[in-house]
Amino acid sequence: MTVAPTAMKPTRVLVAGGGVAALEAALALRALAEDRVTVELLAPEPHFWYRPLAVAAPFELGEVLRFELNELAAAAGATVALGSLAAVEATSHRVRTSAGAEIPYDVLLVACGAVPTPAISGALTFRGPADVEKVGALLEELAAGAVRRVVFAVPWGAVWSLPVYELALLTAAHVEARGTPGVELAVVTPEETPLQLFGQAGSEAVRELLAERGVTVHAGAYPTELVDGELRLVPEGKVDSDRVVALPRLRGPRIDGLPQTVDGFIPVDSHGRVHGLEDVYAAGDVTSFPLKQGGIAAQQADAAAEAVAAAAGADLAPRPFRPVLRGLLLTGRQPRYLRRELTGDAVRDSWASPEPLWWPPAKIVGRYLAPFLGSFAGVEVPPEPAAAHGAVPVEVELDAETVERSSSRRPELEHDDDGRRAVGDVMSPDPILVAPEVTLAEVAEKMRDRDAGSALVVDDGRLIGILTSRDLLRAFAGRVHSNEARVREWMTAEPVAVSSKTTLEAAARLMTEYGFHHLPVVEAERVVGMLGLRQAVRHARGRFGIGLGF
Ligand SMILES: Cc1cc2nc3c(=O)[nH]c(=O)nc-3n(C[C@H](O)[C@H](O)[C@H](O)COP(=O)(O)OP(=O)(O)OC[C@H]3O[C@@H](n4cnc5c(N)ncnc54)[C@H](O)[C@@H]3O)c2cc1C
Repeated sequence: MTVAPTAMKPTRVLVAGGGVAALEAALALRALAEDRVTVELLAPEPHFWYRPLAVAAPFELGEVLRFELNELAAAAGATVALGSLAAVEATSHRVRTSAGAEIPYDVLLVACGAVPTPAISGALTFRGPADVEKVGALLEELAAGAVRRVVFAVPWGAVWSLPVYELALLTAAHVEARGTPGVELAVVTPEETPLQLFGQAGSEAVRELLAERGVTVHAGAYPTELVDGELRLVPEGKVDSDRVVALPRLRGPRIDGLPQTVDGFIPVDSHGRVHGLEDVYAAGDVTSFPLKQGGIAAQQADAAAEAVAAAAGADLAPRPFRPVLRGLLLTGRQPRYLRRELTGDAVRDSWASPEPLWWPPAKIVGRYLAPFLGSFAGVEVPPEPAAAHGAVPVEVELDAETVERSSSRRPELEHDDDGRRAVGDVMSPDPILVAPEVTLAEVAEKMRDRDAGSALVVDDGRLIGILTSRDLLRAFAGRVHSNEARVREWMTAEPVAVSSKTTLEAAARLMTEYGFHHLPVVEAERVVGMLGLRQAVRHARGRFGIGLGF
């Protein structure tokens, strides 16, 4: 960090975003760094949306709260500039907006959230406030008897499945209260058990509630499309349904100059520092932490704010991000508070209770944000009651692996155990390997010499990224200096890779779905080859030519 703690001028902190992580960071910075910092929010729209209550709105059990961002920012001691972050020039400490404006900063915190994209074709994708009316219309169809079978679906990759369970439970309570006959409700999820992330107590509490309301659960199932009254599952199976309400798959917004994963997420360390860039931090859904949840976003923002405040001269030792998962499940009757220590034991460190397990008992738990929004919305926070059973505020170190393991992951790729051709049979065994600090000019020359469309980025022998000719074009179109810009700033970090035993069919399917032209082949974290799209499609069985774009 280059910020001088004793400088007379305050550190200019630019926060890209106007959501949960951005506001939590602004509040934390004001509290911790006081006048050692100025905070400016760069956001594309003038409102802050409190989205969790969107699930309750169609049932008239809650309303989506919308706040004026200007007013919230002013109360948090920050200012707002309207605009979208399009590119970061980390070496000159400037950002560019999509309208072409340039904004200088001392420290940048990227908190742009994630972009919801439909994941199940034929389904009603529930993204939040924008889809409240569609769920309302579905309730009317149920009441009129025009629709009978409704499935609530979690696609793979959606790692905050709680809204699906809330929608299912609220719909069941709604239908029961109106005495609508013949309605069949089901939940389809890739999780092994409902709300698996919350551990045994959370999962059992939800399972019991669903059983009580007559909602069938299909766990360990990957829903893909609704066709002719059937929700199709992979690898096989179907669930009869007239309508499907599905969660979206999340992707990160493309921002030039930042390392991003194939899904557009930004890799950070436990203090929120973006890998390889000085004075650039990220927090919330936009990071590559696999769980996309408001409470987690706020905890990440707190860790980043502490690091920035300390660098600006505040007297504190910044603590790393230590995720604790808390969820308030709306059930249509008494809500359930769910809590899980992410690194703890799934049985011992999991609690479910109708009484609050944290305080104030908000849907999005932010140390600064929850009481701040409560007072802004005129909601009185009563004095804290005696701790309910399980409300032990133990915080433990981040363990992204636990989250990866218990969340709804990509379907496993098939392996070549039935004689079909595998990636290792056709891959190129000698891809271009470069270090992250190599310049774009050097890598472009290597790619030209070898007539290759991509290079793999390795650090200490381990694959950390991929740079393709498309990335080079993007960089050159942004007029970067190719002798100064480094591969690390333009590569796609943490690329999807396959093993040499993956079947060509599975690899081709992956490439089709994501639009990849190259897949690194990795064994024990070491690169052993590269698979090109043409190699994959030429040798794979089946119809993979559709939609490949060549
Ligand atoms: C229906 C629903 C229910 C949910 N329920 C819960 C719940 O019960 N509990 C919970 O903890 N979480 C819940 N969540 C998740 C929670 O809302 C998100 O995890 C949280 O908002 C993430 O915070 P964030 O700041 O990373 O992103 P966001 O809150 O999405 O904020 C992103 C901000 O960045 C802005 N932005 C976007 N692109 C750019 C750009 N290029 N430049 C600058 N700014 C940009 C956006 O306008 C927005 O202001 C729910 C989400 C949904 C959709």
